[in-house]
Amino acid sequence: MLERLLEKKIFSKKDIVFLLNLYKKDDLEKLYKKADEIRKLYCGDEVHLRGIIEISNICEQNCLYCGLRCSNKNLIRYKMSSQEIIAAGKKILKAGIKTIILQSGENKNIKREEISEIIYELKSYGDCAITLSLGERDFIDYAEWRKAGAERYLLKHETASRALYSLYHPGENLIDRIKHLRMLKILRYQIGSGNLIGLPQQTLEDIADDILLCDKLDIDMGSFSPLIPPNGYPLKSHAAKISELTLKVIAAARIVLKKIHIPVTTALSSIDPDARERGLNAGGNVIMINFTPNPYNSNYIIYPNRRVVSDQSAIINLLSLTAKLGRHISESKGNSPKLRSSAS
Ligand code: SAH
Ligand code: SF4
Repeated sequence: MLERLLEKKIFSKKDIVFLLNLYKKDDLEKLYKKADEIRKLYCGDEVHLRGIIEISNICEQNCLYCGLRCSNKNLIRYKMSSQEIIAAGKKILKAGIKTIILQSGENKNIKREEISEIIYELKSYGDCAITLSLGERDFIDYAEWRKAGAERYLLKHETASRALYSLYHPGENLIDRIKHLRMLKILRYQIGSGNLIGLPQQTLEDIADDILLCDKLDIDMGSFSPLIPPNGYPLKSHAAKISELTLKVIAAARIVLKKIHIPVTTALSSIDPDARERGLNAGGNVIMINFTPNPYNSNYIIYPNRRVVSDQSAIINLLSLTAKLGRHISESKGNSPKLRSSAS
């Protein structure tokens, strides 16, 4: 039954739920092996590194699960200056990483022109790709940033369940979120979306819908990441359950969506010390390395006990991990595998 299902070309919601329900060791091995084969076939053996700079933790949104939500008064807020951001970006390029991610809370006070100038500066400094992850903005902002040279945008749909979306994002709705992803697509950004796994009340059917929505949106990158609960929540039992489920989601997403980049997220590494190896063996092909300078870094508390992967030693560890897995670190910008030339 499982063998036949894994050979299918098109997957229904029922098929995906079946995969997410697997729990026997040998069934899980078959699932991960198939995902690994598909990753190799469509994306090759390269592991892509992305350097992330968390430029500000100021946020106007109130996503209930997130430590940066505006109603959280127990956080020292910051915004890096343009000079600090550019210096961190140069550090990423000097480390040999050719994708810079600029991420922040959703904050309309981060001026369109300021981001355009940063993009322009970094692109003139070195051959690189810029990914923005600044939340929902106006079409004109997205358009100007694209013109300045940014080619990717990461905006997770978080959950494909309309009810859950509205529950966790007060005053917001899923339809609007999807509109933003479509705007970005119109502007020819390579788009990243994805979900949170382990939201209270979320079902495996909801998660299957997340994967199917990513298919419909024709995404270039899919981030399937565990929800890390706030401090005080009994994390140990949650972590074991959610990290296995996240690996199953990564594998199922790889099998269904095929030609996309899939990161092994920092959130997964924060609850599972073996996440990078397990994730890279279950369909993942991207790893993010943190270049947010201190003291800002320690205040970007999206969730507690974040295990931040930073600096050169992290890259050296990854070199030995990828070699152990028979893979290698990419020297390219790692464009979307859906673009004809991903070597550039
Ligand atoms: N403000 C931007 C980017 C920063 S948030 C945005 O929301 O798009 C980046 C991601 O952090 C979000 O997409 C969300 O999926 C994730 N996140 C927020 N709270 C989290 C938590 N408690 N556990 C795991 N991931 C979380
Ligand atoms: Fe703000 Fe993003 Fe956190 Fe939502 S997930 S509160 S938009 S930083």
